[in-house]
Amino acid sequence: MTPPPVHVVGHGLAGAILAETASQKGLRIRVSDDGGPSSSRVAAGLFTPLTGQRLIPSWGLDEAYPVLKRFYPMLESSLGVSIFHECSTCRILRTAKQREEVECRKSVWAQDWTAAPPPFKAPFGMVEVQGGGWVNLPAMLDALKKRRQQRGEWAGPPIPNECTIWCQGAAASQDPRWKDVGWRIAHGDVLTVRIPGLSSSAIYNFDKFLLPIGNGLFRLGATYDWHTATPVPRLKGRQELEEALASCLQLPFEVVDHQAGLRPVALARVPVAGPHPEEPHHWIFNGFASKGVLLAPWMAECTVQALLTGEGIPKETLSTRRIQRQRDREKTRRGQAAHSTHPVRKGQVKKNSPSAQ
Ligand SMILES: Cc1cc2nc3c(=O)[nH]c(=O)nc-3n(C[C@H](O)[C@H](O)[C@H](O)COP(=O)(O)OP(=O)(O)OC[C@H]3O[C@@H](n4cnc5c(N)ncnc54)[C@H](O)[C@@H]3O)c2cc1C
Repeated sequence: MTPPPVHVVGHGLAGAILAETASQKGLRIRVSDDGGPSSSRVAAGLFTPLTGQRLIPSWGLDEAYPVLKRFYPMLESSLGVSIFHECSTCRILRTAKQREEVECRKSVWAQDWTAAPPPFKAPFGMVEVQGGGWVNLPAMLDALKKRRQQRGEWAGPPIPNECTIWCQGAAASQDPRWKDVGWRIAHGDVLTVRIPGLSSSAIYNFDKFLLPIGNGLFRLGATYDWHTATPVPRLKGRQELEEALASCLQLPFEVVDHQAGLRPVALARVPVAGPHPEEPHHWIFNGFASKGVLLAPWMAECTVQALLTGEGIPKETLSTRRIQRQRDREKTRRGQAAHSTHPVRKGQVKKNSPSAQ
């Protein structure tokens, strides 16, 4: 008997990569999307083995990186669309402390910058980080949607009792079924800027990134704001990015576009995957924060393996465990509030609390 199809809800980076991986492993799939905001259509699509100011290897790098190197080139050739671009990053060091930390962390991925220095102020030097690049996510999503439609796999909403994998991005934080995962949403602004005369042979990183996209244009990003719950471009975000670039680049630039999106950040800051504890035919695949391009292909393999065999999802990302922990934390918090010896009555402002200042 043919097994029933798996329904993937949401066709951002997470849903698209999961559906493709499931399909490659021989599962029948149906995919739907409500056409709402998608941070994958705003994201620069960068991946890098080393992250943060201290150039630390990403969580899951050893497992995720080989899958990334296999997945996107294979997808590119099967879709016949150019999406995968490998490119070194020129990391511009901004402080003596950064220099010191990077010196200790030089590795197979990061060495001194030996090419002609690009026109940035760099009193603490530059390093070359290898092994990174970017994926053209809008082009990937458009081509995959077309393929799903041609195969008759693009569908309406899930039907009851269908095995359904929810890949809603930031919208999951508003879904009663998945709210207990525990979410933080990180709003991000990104600009497109024109910089005549800047070489497009590298990605530049000076705590913000500049990604060359051709014709003298670069994506400049990104901001992190934890208090804005809608994906609207913020003037403050644009100013932050323009100021950061102006303080470092020694060439004039012009802003030609401004976009914004919401990153889905699950509380432990690693993705979340697997079934719901009370509704086992509902699964989640989400929480990719700023690392979707690197982590989603590997996590999709793990999730499809779990669908087929019941095992394979890394335990720190497993949905049942994450939901239970979050519920326990919430119970403890409520218990502590109920037993507090100094209850704060409604309307009463505690001395020295931020709202009293
Ligand atoms: C400014 C910015 C820059 C970034 N840069 C990078 C980067 O360089 N590299 C990187 O790896 N990551 C980056 N990210 C993060 C990246 O965008 C996310 O990790 C990733 O896009 C999340 O993908 P997703 O599929 O989970 O969510 P989304 O892309 O938001 O997709 C969710 C989809 O689900 C649909 N949906 C939601 N609810 C429903 C429903 N009930 N029914 C049907 N459909 C539904 C939505 O319409 C949407 O299409 C960036 C993010 C921002 C904001």
